[in-house]
Amino acid sequence: MSEIPETTQVAVVGGGPGGYAAAFRAADLGLDVALIELEKNPGGTCLYRGCIPSKALLHVAKVLTEAREALNWGITFGEPAIDIEKMRARTYDVVEKLTSGLGQLCKARKIKYVRGRGALVDANTLKITADDGSDGQMHFEYAILAPGSRPSLLQNFLIDSPRIMTSTTALMIREIPESLLVIGGGYIGLELGSVYAALGTRVTVVEMGGVLLPTADPDLAKILAGRMDHVMHEILLNTKVVGMEEVEQGVRIALDGPDVEQKERVFEKVLISIGRKPNSSGIGLKTSKVEVDGHGFIQVDGQRRTADPSIFAIGDVTGQPMLAHKATHEGHVAAEVIAGQHAVFEPRAIPAVVFTDPEVAWCGLTEVDAQREGRAIKVARFPWGASGRASTLGRPEGVTKIIADPETDVILGVGIAGTNAGELISEGALAIEMGALASDIELTIHPHPTLGETIMESAEIIFGPSTHVYRPKKEDA
Ligand code: FAD
Repeated sequence: MSEIPETTQVAVVGGGPGGYAAAFRAADLGLDVALIELEKNPGGTCLYRGCIPSKALLHVAKVLTEAREALNWGITFGEPAIDIEKMRARTYDVVEKLTSGLGQLCKARKIKYVRGRGALVDANTLKITADDGSDGQMHFEYAILAPGSRPSLLQNFLIDSPRIMTSTTALMIREIPESLLVIGGGYIGLELGSVYAALGTRVTVVEMGGVLLPTADPDLAKILAGRMDHVMHEILLNTKVVGMEEVEQGVRIALDGPDVEQKERVFEKVLISIGRKPNSSGIGLKTSKVEVDGHGFIQVDGQRRTADPSIFAIGDVTGQPMLAHKATHEGHVAAEVIAGQHAVFEPRAIPAVVFTDPEVAWCGLTEVDAQREGRAIKVARFPWGASGRASTLGRPEGVTKIIADPETDVILGVGIAGTNAGELISEGALAIEMGALASDIELTIHPHPTLGETIMESAEIIFGPSTHVYRPKKEDA
């Protein structure tokens, strides 16, 4: 294995978007840093098994869908010939290019990259074990734990079969199954289900709750659900998987739900996407004062310090939202605090994006949050049917909404469902972080014709009609 330094100022365990960002920031601030990671290069779940490969595949899905829909615009393509090997190689190339680039950035910053599994031996020592079983110890002044998370499994049905996939194996598309059951209607299930559906698989989604995308506001999720009804073969809500066994033709599934007519079905493949668990076991936490909650998430304060003063924790292992950009910002804070700077992690808005078609994105306060908190809000919605740009794209089904304080008009939340929502939401996050008023957005000239104008026009609606949306008051009608 790579040489283990005897001692370091900062030991970062885990090289995902949390860990590598923390290591880079700490090195840039002049600290002596070691980054301990299982993979050859940094990248973590996000680059190897998450954000990046899924978005590379979703781009393929988008091209396929647009080519099919071009029929309505006067262009007819033939049925696509799909070369799975080439598609997989392209995804691999994207990942390889990005992760080896991160490896180079480590070297350039003189970070000691140690390939192996790190576990605390005490509050200032790590044991690092390589794949071949060799090990060694490293003394540190501070550790930043960033071991991330892994897919949750269905505990009643722990079947070891290539037919039963998690997000990790579903991303390595080896063939296009004829049928796929996606268990879980959250963002990972819907993103990956959309990829398989675009490739020609008959996809059934089963969700225990009453809606898809339960973490999004219902008005946004509804727009996605409308399209998913056409993309997916079937969506079964309020439905539970109560039986699973591998049979010759696939996986026999027993379903239980009020609307399920056919309770037993066989699928060629099954994707379990029911959430993720923190990787907080097996890293020696018991040898320290670090505390975890009932779900295994490491407890941290605003500076990402654990109950043990020399140990910090960041990213998925510290809890929701389990998102790469949240992990990165936490990593920066932890490194800055260790370097003696006054830093704290207290964002007003962490954007969430679901990269389906259409995309769904939101940040800051949601309507559901406001209702739960009994907080008064003003909500303005701009329907994309009134957007010139959405019409040119043939995608008028979207909506942009602004949630503002009714007294001050300070923007508290922004939600968008529609094509490219993920690119648009940053303006909302910036507005919330800067404490912008709805009038700040309204008075900012947005270029025409763009989807960005929908944010400006929803701000106009806070004060009355917008240029392209006129709803007469009852007495004028
Ligand atoms: P991770 O990225 O999980 O990295 C942890 C690293 O620690 C891993 O490299 C692992 O090898 C290493 N490690 C673990 N234990 C040890 C140990 N004991 N010693 C040494 N190394 C160890 N988020 C988004 O923001 N946008 C998206 O579009 C998005 N899409 C996703 C799609 C999928 C299919 C999945 C599964 C996730 C997606 N996520 C997305 C979530 C995102 O990947 C995570 O939130 C993010 O990677 C968390 O970063 P992290 O640094 O906390 O941990």
